[in-house]
Amino acid sequence: MADLLDRFAPLMAQRDALFNENGADPFQVKMDEVLSQTEAVIEGRRTILVGTNNYLGLTFAPEALDAAHAALDAYGTGTTGSRVANGTYGGHKELEQALCDFYGMKHAMVFSTGFLANLGILSTLMGPEDYILMDADCHASIYDGVRGSQAQIIRFKHNDAADLDKRLARLAGKPGNKLIVVEGIYSMLGDRAPLKEIVAVKKKYENVFLLSDEAHSLGVLGKYGRGLPEEVGCEEDVDFIVGTFSKSVGTVGGFCVSNHPQFDTLRLVCRAYVFTASLPPSVVASATVNLGLVQKGGALRKRLMRNAKKLQTGLSALGLQVASEDSPVVAVVAPDPQTAAVFWRGLIEAGVYVNLALPPATPFGYSLLRASLCAAHTEEQIDDVIAIFADVASRLGLIAPAEPQRTAVG
Ligand code: PMP
Repeated sequence: MADLLDRFAPLMAQRDALFNENGADPFQVKMDEVLSQTEAVIEGRRTILVGTNNYLGLTFAPEALDAAHAALDAYGTGTTGSRVANGTYGGHKELEQALCDFYGMKHAMVFSTGFLANLGILSTLMGPEDYILMDADCHASIYDGVRGSQAQIIRFKHNDAADLDKRLARLAGKPGNKLIVVEGIYSMLGDRAPLKEIVAVKKKYENVFLLSDEAHSLGVLGKYGRGLPEEVGCEEDVDFIVGTFSKSVGTVGGFCVSNHPQFDTLRLVCRAYVFTASLPPSVVASATVNLGLVQKGGALRKRLMRNAKKLQTGLSALGLQVASEDSPVVAVVAPDPQTAAVFWRGLIEAGVYVNLALPPATPFGYSLLRASLCAAHTEEQIDDVIAIFADVASRLGLIAPAEPQRTAVG
């Protein structure tokens, strides 16, 4: 009889082949000391962090630290209960009100992570007669959420509004509601949904709702940081926004906001909300404070985008293939998983931390060195990151070695 986890043997063999031979194992990375939003000690080295999704650098915001300390002292380390049974404190309600105010929406529900928010909402919203039309490149939490739903699941081609239109046309006249699911910014390549086109398609048909996962666009896009719908001016056409506090908001937790009149029904039927412990008071307090900083964070957003542009142009100028544009995510494409793993190891040994992302978790089967920028990165840090990429890439033969500087003889 096969042993319990034998079915994962090919995956483990693949992992061993990739990481044991060259010592690169990104799953073993440990930050022993966090020096700031942009630096940590890894393997005893001072390392520049370019892979944390800490877009606005709010993890050490003094106001949030103060609020978290005060909540810890006043309410203790945890709620020890679920929102419904015994885990709703005043702070949770204040955070939900802060989300309603931030988005200008009537209803907000706070979950313990963004993953659970997608799991809970997507498995509950649509019933057996209904349809969910999701972008093929959606996050794992969306895939898991829709899998738990009784609705029929239809995937449309990534960022292809015409393909969505075709699929909705086939459903026209069928009873049941339809829910379109997209992301504001997709996590791997940092590209954006064509939201205006998707809204135009939505409006052609009856009983169609739209949900946008704004995990990577909250705090990043829009004058007030409300993400892609704010940036492109179609907030009224998005029925549900799901988000996370684990990126721009600098802590942990998830949420869903909506104007749907029956939204509060979800508080009783959403299993990922009812049957799990609520966020601890210190996290809730820091999320509430940081949400305010996100709203006022216009200058941080400018710095973030300036930093991202600098890294993107710097790496492209080296001759590396950069798959991202105009995005806080800067993803460099390596020729194959092996090279990507060695590249990643070279970077970490030289004091740069990025994410190694490999197929099947990546679009187009890309092997990626995925960087995400922070408003708190200095120009000097980004120059250092570019120089280290240049050094490692030329040692791997991916780009031509830098020309030696000519000195004038005279
Ligand atoms: N949605 C997307 C698009 C994400 O990238 C992530 C996290 N990487 C999540 C949801 C889950 O968020 P959390 O970390 O809060 O569970």
